[in-house]
Amino acid sequence: MEKKYDVELRHIKKSFNGNTIVKDFSIQIERGEFISFLGPSGCGKTTTLNMIAGFLEADEGELLIKGRLMNGVPTYKRDLGMVFQTYSLFPHMTVFENIAYGLKLRKLLKDEIAVRVKKVLELVKLPQVQTRFPKQLSGGQRQRIAIARALVMEPSILLLDEPLSNLDAKLREELRDELKRLHKEIGVTTIFVTHDQEEALSLSDRIVVLSHGNIEQIGSPSDIYHRPATEFVHTFIGKTNRLDGTVKALDGNDLTIQTEDGLSIKARSKEKKFVSGEKVSTYMRPETIQLTMDPVGSVDVTTFSGIVKLVTFLGPITEYHISVGKHELIVRTQQPQRHFVEGAQVYGFCHTEDIMVVEENF
Ligand code: ATP
Repeated sequence: MEKKYDVELRHIKKSFNGNTIVKDFSIQIERGEFISFLGPSGCGKTTTLNMIAGFLEADEGELLIKGRLMNGVPTYKRDLGMVFQTYSLFPHMTVFENIAYGLKLRKLLKDEIAVRVKKVLELVKLPQVQTRFPKQLSGGQRQRIAIARALVMEPSILLLDEPLSNLDAKLREELRDELKRLHKEIGVTTIFVTHDQEEALSLSDRIVVLSHGNIEQIGSPSDIYHRPATEFVHTFIGKTNRLDGTVKALDGNDLTIQTEDGLSIKARSKEKKFVSGEKVSTYMRPETIQLTMDPVGSVDVTTFSGIVKLVTFLGPITEYHISVGKHELIVRTQQPQRHFVEGAQVYGFCHTEDIMVVEENF
């Protein structure tokens, strides 16, 4: 028998006025998974979510929820809970009435409605605000109520469209942790749209990275961060250093690349076979570079010497800008080193497997 996923998209496509916004979107989402759609503004995240919600019809492809084809099925019959970026609470209703609204439409008994509203308010840790109106709540509290209102219907699938983006940084982080806790507690299948990589990395079981309507990669947060499938994923997630050069020597998958100003970089290619003389770009994450006061000699690392230009203390980490030839590399370490002061001569090294190499991209 064919396996039933909670949500399945098969070759979904969508265009607006001749512009293809979603190109060929396929994914199978298991029950209880937390999936993020991550990408820059305009990459088609919301459009895809709106097709799952039933606000938009796909031009091509199939969309299934719990194994049932959804073509033509209206939103209210899809067993979904939804929370959006802007607080979509009814301003003239109290918190209780807002949350109870959907249950009343379903004609549940008064007592049961009261029990369920109470329970869900406890779940979002706001048991005391039942009689307040939305304007008497903070932004974070309103989003919690919006989440409670979605959860009270006990949906099979929860759709969250940038629900944290109108909150200030601290509140965002708090509510992010709250979402993680809630998901652990109730285990509802969740699709979360965001352009914030940190939110996606911290919350998701899997992340779908999108760019211009294309799926760049689907993977666990660790895969996406440590094993980016494409240059876009590498540069979109986290900070990176880019150095362009020419392939000078090849030994199986190991490459020696030389930059224009003579820096020698050792990298290991995964699949693509490069040829001698080919122009390539290399990428190193700031936290994969280590700094020392003495030169390092090892066959498996890229080494360089440079001058510390800028030291920025960021709390748990310290960021250094190191000028190396014509380049300025960013290095991030957990322990601040008292020798690495601005103006000091330092040495850096990065392991071969931590350097990503791609065809040069202009
Ligand atoms: P954002 O984070 O900015 O919302 P997004 O990745 O969610 O970005 P979408 O809202 O899916 O992006 O929009 C993708 C593209 O489709 C945008 O260029 C947008 O202008 C266009 N678009 C979305 N809806 C429509 C529509 N109904 N008619 C025409 N174009 C649309």
